[in-house]
Amino acid sequence: MLTCKEFLAELSDFLDETTRDEMRARLERHLSQCPNCWVVCDTTRKTIQVYKGLDSCDLPEDVRDRLLAAVERKIASHGEGS
Ligand SMILES: [Zn+2]
Repeated sequence: MLTCKEFLAELSDFLDETTRDEMRARLERHLSQCPNCWVVCDTTRKTIQVYKGLDSCDLPEDVRDRLLAAVERKIASHGEGS
């Protein structure tokens, strides 16, 4: 099974759906067995949807940058200590 660190390293590709089939299957297996990564994945997916939705609004660039930085910090903090 993948470690959480390996999972998180692949997470952005996974959410972009650019992961190869074999890796995708391993990621999905990890997700089904690791509630921690499931939460991170779910939260990140939702945040990305919000973030993409912001492209159609006229949000100041610095606000979008801060939002993205917050997401990245969240992902990074979950990758530690496991
Ligand atoms: Zn995990």
